[in-house]
Amino acid sequence: MEVHMSILSNRAKSLRPSPTLAINAKAKSMQAKGIHVISFGAGEPDFDTPENIKEAAKKALDEGFTKYTPVGGIDDLKDAIIKKFQRDSGLSYRRSEIIVSCGGKHSFYNLAQAIFDQGDEVIIPAPYWVSYPPMVALAGGTPVIVETKEKDEFKITPENLKRATTSKTKALIVNSPSNPTGSAYTKAELEKIAEIAISKKFFVISDEIYEKIVYDGFRFVSIASLSDEMKKKTIIVHGVAKTYAMTGWRIGYTAGPEEIISAMNNIQSQSTSNPTSIAQKASVEALAGPQDEVGKMVSAFAQRRNYIVDRLNKISGVSCYKPAGAFYVFPNFSSYYGKSYQGKKIENSTHLADFFLDIARVAVVPGVEFGADPFERLSYATSMEDIREGLNRIEEALKKLS
Ligand code: PLP
Repeated sequence: MEVHMSILSNRAKSLRPSPTLAINAKAKSMQAKGIHVISFGAGEPDFDTPENIKEAAKKALDEGFTKYTPVGGIDDLKDAIIKKFQRDSGLSYRRSEIIVSCGGKHSFYNLAQAIFDQGDEVIIPAPYWVSYPPMVALAGGTPVIVETKEKDEFKITPENLKRATTSKTKALIVNSPSNPTGSAYTKAELEKIAEIAISKKFFVISDEIYEKIVYDGFRFVSIASLSDEMKKKTIIVHGVAKTYAMTGWRIGYTAGPEEIISAMNNIQSQSTSNPTSIAQKASVEALAGPQDEVGKMVSAFAQRRNYIVDRLNKISGVSCYKPAGAFYVFPNFSSYYGKSYQGKKIENSTHLADFFLDIARVAVVPGVEFGADPFERLSYATSMEDIREGLNRIEEALKKLS
């Protein structure tokens, strides 16, 4: 008797492509057809990688630094990461507590594989970065989504955190500053979370990839820096992509307890091996070299943030929280749900994003992808000129809805 086996694994069948990458692909294909699309979809700085970083990569190439490196990264880079944590957060790590991976996403993926088992619950405050729930689920963990409110600046409250905690809670994900909302936790807020994590004995995965992109003097604090006890319960996921406009270089890193880092190293050794050798050398320069380009990028982002938040809040029926960091805004457009254009009803964030792309030729990412349907995510990592034009188009398009 012939046995029919499904071609794809259940695991593969359960996955959809990353929606942010999908939106960008659609916008790019429209652009290729000659349609002028303004994209607020990108999750990457529009600036080029700073020259000194590119030079370091060229030098590595010329010197023949083109072979396998240790799986978890070269010592030079681990040392630069160790110095960075010491300098910025007063945290002391040893090399055995650091691993370099192929991007922050890969860091998170390996971490999830290293610590989650079937049945482990992972608290993920919503709105969340699109990849957290699938990566937790791929590792067998159960994402426990906890809604946050616009009025609370999209931050999880201690009460809601306590309510979501069970005996199966293995970890909480804290992403500050956040993608998609740009909200960031203060030291006092983190202290309350740390207290709960310690008393309920769960880990905190602190995704600090937007650490350097903060505004109006906001002081970034790592939850790991609050106490020695909390440091033992925290695993920091970080990377060079956002701070140094290095999204294509694929370098992320993780800092945490040695046992976890060592397990991640095993997983990495049986899957990707080391991150690209020359990108590692470039990242040493990024972290240890001059930091002035970062300041320039952040001031450009700050100017755009002020403009975009102001414009969005002036549009009738739209409210937009002014973010403390990252390069996204997450305006609430839900007062337009239920309205129609040419007989087609806009019922949710996906319909509205499609409407913006088709009618306004503006790409945004639907809030539902981040677990918050009243909203759309707009990235302002694009020129002021495009931001101005894009908002004009959105404003005009919304007037067509009735
Ligand atoms: N964490 C957050 C919150 C992000 O927004 C991203 C990228 O969009 C990453 C991690 C991963 O970045 P990368 O894999 O490019 O280093």
